[in-house]
Amino acid sequence: APTRPAPYLANLNPEQRTAVESLDGPVLVLAGAGTGKTRVLTTRLAHLLNLGRAYPSQILAVTFTNKAAREMQERVGHAIGGSAEGMPWLGTFHAVAAKILRRHAELVGLKSNFTILDTDDQIRVIKQVLELARLDDKRWPPKLFASLLDQWKNRGLTPQKLSAADAQAFADGRAAELYAGYQERLRTLNAADFGDLLLHNLTIFQNHPDILADYQRRFRYVLVDEYQDTNVSQYLWLRLLAQAHKNICCVGDDDQSIYGWRGAEVGNILRFETDFPGAAIIRLEQNYRSTPEILGAASGLIAANKGRLGKTLWTTAPAGEKVRVRGVWDGPEEARVVTDEIESLRARGDKLSQTAVLVRAGFQTREFEERFLTVGLPYRIVGGARFYERLEIRDALAYLRLIQQGDDDLAFERVINTPKRGIGKVALQKLYAVSRDLRVPLLRAAEMLGETEDLTGAARRSIMTFANDIRRWRDLRDTVGHMQLAETVLEESGYVAMWQQDKSAEAPGRLENLAELMRAMEGFDNLGGFLEHVSLVMDNEQNNHGDKVSVMTLHSAKGLEFDSVFLPGWEEGLFPNQRALDDGGLASLEEERRLAYVGITRARKRAIILHAANRLVYGQWQSSLPSRFINEMPGEFIEIESNPGLYRGSMSRGYGRGAEDNDSAPWDSGAKDSGSSWGQTTGQFSSRPSSSANWSQPPRRAMSPGRFGGGRVI
Ligand code: ATP
Ligand code: MG
Repeated sequence: APTRPAPYLANLNPEQRTAVESLDGPVLVLAGAGTGKTRVLTTRLAHLLNLGRAYPSQILAVTFTNKAAREMQERVGHAIGGSAEGMPWLGTFHAVAAKILRRHAELVGLKSNFTILDTDDQIRVIKQVLELARLDDKRWPPKLFASLLDQWKNRGLTPQKLSAADAQAFADGRAAELYAGYQERLRTLNAADFGDLLLHNLTIFQNHPDILADYQRRFRYVLVDEYQDTNVSQYLWLRLLAQAHKNICCVGDDDQSIYGWRGAEVGNILRFETDFPGAAIIRLEQNYRSTPEILGAASGLIAANKGRLGKTLWTTAPAGEKVRVRGVWDGPEEARVVTDEIESLRARGDKLSQTAVLVRAGFQTREFEERFLTVGLPYRIVGGARFYERLEIRDALAYLRLIQQGDDDLAFERVINTPKRGIGKVALQKLYAVSRDLRVPLLRAAEMLGETEDLTGAARRSIMTFANDIRRWRDLRDTVGHMQLAETVLEESGYVAMWQQDKSAEAPGRLENLAELMRAMEGFDNLGGFLEHVSLVMDNEQNNHGDKVSVMTLHSAKGLEFDSVFLPGWEEGLFPNQRALDDGGLASLEEERRLAYVGITRARKRAIILHAANRLVYGQWQSSLPSRFINEMPGEFIEIESNPGLYRGSMSRGYGRGAEDNDSAPWDSGAKDSGSSWGQTTGQFSSRPSSSANWSQPPRRAMSPGRFGGGRVI
C-alpha cells in the first residue's frame, strides 16, 4: 500500500487536494479564475488512473476546446507515464458525442459513416426543404432557420418537442413541420449537423435504456471543465451519463460564463446540487496565476455584476505592477503603443509566446496585424484567420482586384456568382470555352458572351450586367477616390446586402470586417497602392511554430494564461459592445463585464488596457469614451496613463460628434430598426452621403466629458 502521497498531489493546496481526492459522488468545484480548476481536473484524472480506480476507457473527460483536450491528454500522459491501457474518452462535447453516435447511428436512421454537415451544406439542405414546402426563401431566410435549428438543438428540442411558441418563430407557425422535414432529409443524405451530435445521443439514450445503461456503467468517472458554459442539451447529456455512478466532477466559474448568446445556461451550476443530491461543493480561493494588482482590479470589476454567486480570491504572490490604463489618440497609435511595449518586453527577455493581445471584436486585429508585419514582429491569430484571409475580405478584395486588373481570372471566378446572380453551370462553361478558345480573360469573355445570342435569357442578362458593372466601376476610378469606389462597388454589387440579409451569428462580424477594410484603405493614395500593400502583407507565410505573440478574441482566450496581456479598445460601444448596450437588458451588459473579467485574469504579470479617444471612420473622426469598465476597477490597483487633455481636446475641436450632438446623433435614428445597416451595431450604409457614412464603428453615446477631464478616472 502506498504510504507517501503521489508526487503530483504534493503540488496542490488542501482544497484542491480535497477536490482531487473526493473520488466518490458528485463534486462541483466552483471557483474564480486562476485558482487551479483545470489543474484539479487533470490531476484528478491522473489520480484515478494511478489508484487503478478505473481503466482509462471508463473515464469521460469533457473540455471546451480541442486545444484543451490535447493539453489534458499531454498532462495526463506525463502524469501516468506511457503505461495507460486504452485511452480516456477525452474531448469536446461534440467530439465525444460523435464517437458515441457512430456506434449506434442506425438507431436514429443513419449509418455509422454519416457525414457531419458544414454550414454551407446545411443551408443548401434547408433551401431544398423550403422549396418543397413552397416557401419563398426571400421571405423566410434559410440562415434564420439554421440559427433557430441551432437554438432548438442546443435546448435539446426535437421537432416533436417544439412548443407552439417555438413553432411560431418561422414560416407562420410551420416551423415544427419544416424542422421534421429537414431531419428527414438529413437522414436520406446520411448526414448530421453539429447540433444533431448531442441531440441524437439524447434520443438514443431515451429510446434505448439498455444502451444508456451500458454507458452509465462504463463511465465510472465523469470530469467536466468550463462547466459554466454548458448548454441545456450538453447538461442533459451529462446528467444522463453520470446517473449510475454519480461520480461526476464539474469545475467552473459563474463569473466566466461568456456564451449565454449561444445558449449556455449558467443556471446549470445552480441546479447541480438539486440534480445530484449530496454533492460536495468545493471552493478554491487562492489564485496562483496573477499578481495582487491584477486580481484586485479584476475582482473589483466583476463585483459590479449583480447576478453572481460571489467569491473571494486571494494570492500570496508579491506585489507587482499595477494594471495600466493607457489612453491613446487613435487606432494607429494604439497599435504602435502595443507594438513598442511588446518590443521592449522582448528586449528585456520576455517570450513573445507569453504575450497576448485580446480583442473584443474580430475586426480589431487588423491594425495590430499591419503594425506587427511592418516592424517584423511574429504573431499568430488564434482561433481564426488573419484579417486579409477572412472570407468576406477576400471576396471584397477580389472585386477590387478585378476592377484594377481586368484579366485577373481568379478574382473573376470568386465574384461572378457572389452574391448569387443566377449564372448557372452551363453559362459558366460557355464562359470558360470562349476564354479558352479566344485566349481572352474571363471578363472579356463575359463581355463578348453578353453580346452574342449564344446564351439565353436570364443567364445572358446577368453576365452582361456583371460585365457592364465592372466596366462602369473601372471608369469610376478616374472620378472618385479609391475608398468611395470601394464603397460603391460593395454596395452596388449587392455584396454588402448579401451579408445584411444574412441571419447567421457571424454576419455582423463580417460587416464589421468590411468596414474595417475601408478604414485600412485610408492610408493609401490609390487602389493600386493598397492592393500592392495587401499582397505584400499576405506574402508573409503564417506558420504556427516559433516564438510569437498571440492575437485573439476574448472568447477564444478562455482558460489560457500569459505573462503579459494587452487589452485594446476599451471604449463605450466597442467594449461593452454596442449590441449589448442597445439590448438594454442587464444580462448582456453583465456578460460583457464577465468577458472583461476573463480578459484581465488571463494575465500573470501584467495587464495593459488601452482606449483610443478617436477612431477614424471613413475620413471622419468620431470621439469615443473610455469603457465604463475602466471606472469600475478599484483605483488602488490601476494606473492611468491617459493624457488628461485627450478628451477635452477632441471635443473642443469638434471631432467628437457623438459627444456633442447628444441624443440626436444622426446615426441614432435608423440604426436599430433598419435592416440595412452594416452590422447590427452600425449606422446606415446607403442612406447618407458617403463622406459621412458611419459603417464601421458603433454609434457613440453621449456622456459627460467632465468625468474624464481630470485625467484620473476613479
Ligand atoms: P481559469 O478559470 O482561467 O480556467 P483555472 O482555475 O482553471 O483558471 P488553472 O489554469 O488550473 O486555473 O491554474 C492557473 C495557474 O496556476 C496555472 O499556471 C497552474 O499551473 C497554477 N496552479 C494551480 N494550482 C497551483 C498550486 N497548487 N501550486 C502552484 N501553482 C498552481
Ligand atoms: Mg481552467
